[in-house]
Parts: sequence; C-alpha cells; structure tokens
Amino acid sequence: MLDISSLALPAFTPGWVWLVGAGPGDPGLLTLAGLHALRQADVVVYDALVDPRILDLARPEMPREYAGKRGGKPSPRQRDISARLVELARAGQRVLRLKGGDPFVFGRGGEEALALVQAGVPFRIVPGVTAGIGGLGYAGIPATHRDTNHCVTFVTGHGVTGEVPDGLDWQAIARGSPALVLYMGLKHLDAIARRLIAAGRDGDEPVAIISRATTERQFVLETTLARAASEAASSGIEPPTIIAIGPIVRLRAGLDWLGALGGRRLDPDPLGLRRAARDAG
Ligand code: SAH
Repeated sequence: MLDISSLALPAFTPGWVWLVGAGPGDPGLLTLAGLHALRQADVVVYDALVDPRILDLARPEMPREYAGKRGGKPSPRQRDISARLVELARAGQRVLRLKGGDPFVFGRGGEEALALVQAGVPFRIVPGVTAGIGGLGYAGIPATHRDTNHCVTFVTGHGVTGEVPDGLDWQAIARGSPALVLYMGLKHLDAIARRLIAAGRDGDEPVAIISRATTERQFVLETTLARAASEAASSGIEPPTIIAIGPIVRLRAGLDWLGALGGRRLDPDPLGLRRAARDAG
C-alpha cells in the first residue's frame, strides 16, 4: 500500500502561494494534493464555507487567517486579500490560500493569481471539487447523462454589481443548454426563471435546489422552473445553494443514493425510457 508521500507530490517552497480548492463541504472531498499542502503550509488564508475540520488537518500551530464575511460585516476587499497573500509570500512563508469548491470556478481565484503574477510571486493551483458537480452528485444528479444532455452550462446568478448578470445572453443559454447549474442563484431565482421561461424554457421543467450540498445538513428541494422561487421562499431554504435546472434533475428519482441510505426506493427507470420501449415494442 502506497503512502501519500510516495505520490511525488510537489514540495511547497517558501515564498510560494498555493491556491487550493477545499471542495464543496464534505471534508472527504479535499484532494490529496490539498491535504499535502495543508500539512506543509506556514499560514493559511481561508474563506467562508471551508469546514473547520479541514483546517484541523494542518499543523496545530499553523496560523489561520479568515478572509470571508463575518457577523454581517462586509468581506475584506479582494484587493486587500491579494495584497495580504503577496505580503506573506514576500516574508518567505508557504502561503496556502484555501477556497471553497474549486479556486477557478466563480471563486475569484483567477483574480488572486493574477495579482500574484503582477507582484512576481510564484504560485500553484490545486483544483478542488466544485459545488456545481460534486454538490449535484450528492443529490443524485449527474451533471451530464447521455439520455438528457450533451452539454452543461455553469451560470452565476449574481453579476459584479450584485444584480442578475445582464451581460449574459439568456436566450442563447435557454435554447442551447438542456442542463443549467446556477451558482449564487437563490436571491435572483425569480428573475432568472422568468428570463428562461420568456426565452422558451418550459415552466414545468424540473429544478433541484440543493442547500449546503455534501454537508451533514444537505437539503434538497425539488420543484419546477415556474414554481422554484416561490417554493424556495416558502420552504425557508438557506444558502449556500446550488441549483440544477433541466431533465438531469429527473435522474434523481433513480440516483438519490443518499436518500437510499435513509430508505428511499430508487426508480431504476427514472426517465421512463424502459417503460416507453416496452410500450412501443
Ligand atoms: N469556488 C466555488 C464557488 C464559489 S461561489 C466552487 O467551485 O464551488 C459560492 C457559491 O457556490 C454559493 O453561492 C453556492 O451557489 C455555491 N456553493 C458552494 N458551496 C456550496 C454548497 N456546499 N452547497 C451548495 N452550494 C454551494
């Protein structure tokens, strides 16, 4: 049996910053490279949504700096976080920048890395499991499935200004992508659903709103595009949520493996294809 030290994972050199994805919640979804980084780092700068048990995998004396929102106060400015990473690296530290999910998916990891490039600080990217794939997986929803979709589109429900991103071509998205995965979509779900329906999507299309995906408190609301916003509001579902839209959601009836652990009977034919074939034949 190999030990992870025999995987020839790269050494964490002093003066470097590693931007590491922590995964969507479940600490078990941290990568081996992420664990390796945590064990070597001199300091970690971490975001909200990172499970404290992941931080506890680091050396106990390692300083931890929190860079997320706290107690309703606004989060530190992105410029300040980037400046702090540069400062720590220049002081000769091994700096672990730990971000939820994947650092390059709606996480501003690209902005932070560019700030490092501008400052001449060397860096490495350690990808993580993104909520839009791993979170769906824990709800029993595949991001792609041969019988439902040959493409999937990741969309942010929040523009730079905090509004529904208007730079998006909602018509093209609605027409071109059977499967949509919305990050940060809860707040503007009503407006987004309206745009999709106006662009031709069926109001009866299935939607799954997955709250706190992959954590012990995961909760999934299954609804439809037309009813999603009002049902989300009345259910009191809480962020963070990842929202899946389209026929992929129907697969959950067959693939909700977590539900099955709690006694749910899985439908071996969730799309009704076998029934349809039988009826036709
Ligand atoms: N870099 C992250 C995304 C950061 S943006 C990633 O790759 O996953 C933050 C958004 O991600 C949240 O608003 C939510 O839409 C989604 N998200 C992150 N973790 C989540 C979780 N455990 N459950 C549901 N949604 C999550």
